[in-house]
Amino acid sequence: MKKICLLGATGSIGENALDVIRKHPDKFKVAALTVNTNIKRLKELIAEFSPEVVAVKDETAAIKLASMGIKNTEILSGAEGLKKLTASLDYDILLSALVGFAGLAPTIEAVKRKKRIALANKETLVAAGELVMGMALEYGAEVLPVDSEHSAIFQCLVGEEINSVEKLILTASGGPFRDSSYADLRNVTLAEALDHPNWKMGSKITIDSSTMMNKGLEVIEAFWLFGIPLSKIDVVIHPQSIIHSMVEFVDGSIKAQLSLPDMKIPIQYAFSYPGRIKGNYVDTKFPELKELTFFEPDREKFRCLSLAFDALEQGGCAPCILNAANEIAVEKFLSQKINYLSIPDIVEDALEKIDNHAKPDLETIFEYDRLTREYVENKY
Ligand code: NAD
Ligand code: MG
Repeated sequence: MKKICLLGATGSIGENALDVIRKHPDKFKVAALTVNTNIKRLKELIAEFSPEVVAVKDETAAIKLASMGIKNTEILSGAEGLKKLTASLDYDILLSALVGFAGLAPTIEAVKRKKRIALANKETLVAAGELVMGMALEYGAEVLPVDSEHSAIFQCLVGEEINSVEKLILTASGGPFRDSSYADLRNVTLAEALDHPNWKMGSKITIDSSTMMNKGLEVIEAFWLFGIPLSKIDVVIHPQSIIHSMVEFVDGSIKAQLSLPDMKIPIQYAFSYPGRIKGNYVDTKFPELKELTFFEPDREKFRCLSLAFDALEQGGCAPCILNAANEIAVEKFLSQKINYLSIPDIVEDALEKIDNHAKPDLETIFEYDRLTREYVENKY
């Protein structure tokens, strides 16, 4: 029985993970659940899963939850609560499925305790990939990808030598604006940007998918996760999202991992690895697939994708600046304070104006995240 500490329980990944746990009550048990503000849903989940501890956004939310008659479950709050929970609770697997930079601190606690980290929160590796992967190696913690592309690559690499890899090929759906022109992007509405053709996900990643910042963040995530040079990481648009990513080897052979899109598959694999357990979440019928197509992403149209490659090439704190500026820009777009094309403008501006730091430690990363947020908040 593996005990799961689930950060971000009410989100899209969180709810999918709870479905996986429901399907295998003999293998997985919820040890803790955390949410930001959705107390109503958390109350239902406490009744169903009886976690030892839960954590919510702040003291006010904690008091509200306590007043709902929660017994036998400890209630923590704030970033401190998240840290305490991950640093002291008894669990086997941390599923990091909260959104944004907030995922970094609790993940570090789990790394220090040599836990298995099922990582959905890509922002952790974007902001601090070198430090987190370095610590994971030092402490002997496993960082296993939940992001579908990285899970695909991870599965393709089982039994392979990393130096026989010629190329990692990350697939991208291309999002709702795959076929739009750059001029069309000027008038994009919030509803259009939130209308992802293939995946139902949280709002931040859905906007990131539409700008292709998501793929940019994933390139950075892959770079740190697999230790592959940037020159060996390619992105290809594959509108059907059936091939979740591929690895080309030095002999010219290419492995791919395929299925109809369903995040329960990579979540369960990160839980069950190195084994596989029954899933039946999707039924991929080849005769019904009709076609699998591929084309090059337009990096001039999807400026966020280019900015992410640039930030990784610059190194140091640049990916952290990219991430923080993007988080604030997306928040502003979601609350309709800026227009769609301001997202890449803001990220580009932050990368240009904030002086980079070549060799940051963790404290510096936290400082750059804060600085960048402040810069963007004050200027836009
Ligand atoms: P979501 O918005 O649906 O859910 C986020 C969850 O985190 C919610 O439970 C929310 O309460 C909690 N949360 C948000 N901000 C928080 C904060 N500051 N502190 C504590 N908790 C907070 O998001 P999602 O789509 O499930 O994505 C979660 C993460 O997984 C993201 O990093 C995303 O990039 C990654 N991811 C998601 C998918 C997907 O299919 N949804 C696929 C790959 C990777
Ligand atoms: Mg992905």
